[in-house]
Amino acid sequence: MGLETDYISEHQNEPNQGVLYIVGTPIGNLEDFSPRAKNLLSKVSIIACEDTRHSSKLFKKFKVKASLISFHKHNIHSRVPQLLEALKKGETLALISDAGLPSISDPGEELVSASRLSGHKVICIPGPCAAMTALVSSGLPTKRFCFEGFLPSRTKYRNLLLSSISKEKRTTIIYEAPHRLLKLLKELAFLCGEERPIQIARELTKKHEEQIGPTIGKALQYFDQNKPRGEFTIVLGGAPKEVIDTKSDMELIEAMQKLISNGESKNFAAKELASKTGYPKNYLYSLIHK
Ligand code: SAM
Repeated sequence: MGLETDYISEHQNEPNQGVLYIVGTPIGNLEDFSPRAKNLLSKVSIIACEDTRHSSKLFKKFKVKASLISFHKHNIHSRVPQLLEALKKGETLALISDAGLPSISDPGEELVSASRLSGHKVICIPGPCAAMTALVSSGLPTKRFCFEGFLPSRTKYRNLLLSSISKEKRTTIIYEAPHRLLKLLKELAFLCGEERPIQIARELTKKHEEQIGPTIGKALQYFDQNKPRGEFTIVLGGAPKEVIDTKSDMELIEAMQKLISNGESKNFAAKELASKTGYPKNYLYSLIHK
């Protein structure tokens, strides 16, 4: 099959009634808004978006005039049946988020799943996504990777997840807010070691776009001097097998020895580290006696 026959350049019939269109919007650079996306959004009867005020500003620039309806994490449950009803009546419906691809750390999956269950076709008009943009520009392995999005803030769940991320062999992608970036880097340095490869993508596609790496230690040094500002996507290199099994144990032992030399009991040191790392206390206690 020739290349020309694989590509199509026209979608004259879009939008179709009763179809849910998931539409990607720019993550910074407005030039990344695809002609197909703009065309579709200017033709649908309803656009479900996270923040109607935010999206109105974008649409004003592109002269998109559609009826905007809010669809965010606080009204998902009431909105999904309303939007399904609209699809059933033959409305043309598009879903966008504030930036990037809906459903990626943004609302969307509940509506997509409900639409499919109700027999509606779902079509994605792809666009930028911070996670993929950061991954492919990181220089870290892309063959196998996992996406964690935002990590939980509750200590127990966060520590358990961080502990599992530190042992993950695939490249891991994480979203983080600027005011929590240093905390995350310190947690990763503790669990993964300062030499672990990392690439932090800042302000992708925007004027002040930059990449900070190549190791956790170097990134920490950088952000000690430069206050984190803007939007960040973290791409963490996977754990090499030998490092998971030996070095991380050594680090755990060293951390507990530090507490013990400060006058704490072995029991306290193991408990304290268990709460910080998510490792079982008994396992840590056994390490002290190794
Ligand atoms: N749905 C979006 C996507 O497809 O990328 C992600 C939405 S999530 C609520 C927002 C987070 O994505 C930010 O806090 C940041 O971690 C990351 N992000 C978004 N835009 C970015 C950019 N231009 N540069 C770096 N990271 C970005």
